Amino acid sequence: MPDRGSHVADLRVAVIGVGHLGKHHARILGDLPDAKLVAVVDPNAERASAAASASGARALADYRDLFGQVDAVTVATPTELHHEVAMPFLERGISVLVEKPMTRTLAEADALLAAAAASGATFAVGQTERYNPAIATVMPFVTTPRFIEVHRLGVFPDRSLDIDVVFDLMIHDLDIILALVKAEPTAIEAVGVPVLTDKYDIANARLRFASGCIANVTASRISKERVRKIRFFQPDAYVSIDYAEQEVEGYRLLRRGGERPQIQGGKLPVTREEPLKRELSDFVRAVRDRRSPLVDGAAGRRALALAQAIADKMETV
Ligand code: NAD
Repeated sequence: MPDRGSHVADLRVAVIGVGHLGKHHARILGDLPDAKLVAVVDPNAERASAAASASGARALADYRDLFGQVDAVTVATPTELHHEVAMPFLERGISVLVEKPMTRTLAEADALLAAAAASGATFAVGQTERYNPAIATVMPFVTTPRFIEVHRLGVFPDRSLDIDVVFDLMIHDLDIILALVKAEPTAIEAVGVPVLTDKYDIANARLRFASGCIANVTASRISKERVRKIRFFQPDAYVSIDYAEQEVEGYRLLRRGGERPQIQGGKLPVTREEPLKRELSDFVRAVRDRRSPLVDGAAGRRALALAQAIADKMETV
């Protein structure tokens, strides 16, 4: 493992791919006190120089020019390039946060995990909703979910069309469900419809877990309105989250001897913060402190494996 100890005080980071999401990586990393954004990389020179001038970093066209210059990188290229771009950094012991979905295939994910394990590099996956303060608020309450209902609907994007809606959008909720249910899926039914592309643009999956919990998950990238909602039902409680608004409602069933059970609850306080900022701060601190990030490579792989299992079961309407 390379000695990163000598420059942890000034962690040198770069962002690879400064499109729609990567430019926000650059904005946030440029402002974090624990890191120094040294470069942004994009073969699209206009995007690279816009992100560089906004953050004071160098603009590069080729990520290979970063070798020896950085301690950590974030990869926000199209998904089909995640494996190719992340691999040479992990092999060199340079820490990597790769955007979700981790890779195109499980074989690629396994190769990255093996490279990180061999070099000792910190490896994080950008499952950003895990850093949503609304999710952090409900984590202690959702202990025994029996039924989960998810709607993640968006308007048609001009990007991420290299993957279908399960890998693009549904994977956010799959990661949250796996983190909260803490059980393996035992049965999957799934249906999808390709509408505006030759890949599934709208999909529904019904998942049964070993704990008995059922999740009904709908994701669409062809809707007129943007909806980001997840609801958990458990024997004594109901929790509803609006990811986008960072709002949480929680209700509990109160039973007192002899009396009719009562439902109590309402909005729970959430301290709002940009999830991506929390994600990138956690990554930088994980690299500096040599600890695991909240969403490590193994968690990224679990979400990818469930997305792949859903894709394998998918029936076309
Ligand atoms: P985008 O197309 O807007 O940006 C991708 C950028 O990568 C482009 O600027 C492109 O020029 C650049 N690029 C292509 N090849 C490159 C290379 N070899 N080296 C460096 N840069 C290269 O796409 P996007 O919407 O920003 O998505 C990027 C990734 O982020 C995808 O994996 C997507 O799934 C993920 N994403 C995650 C979230 C989240 O909430 N965590 C949200 C949106 C997108």
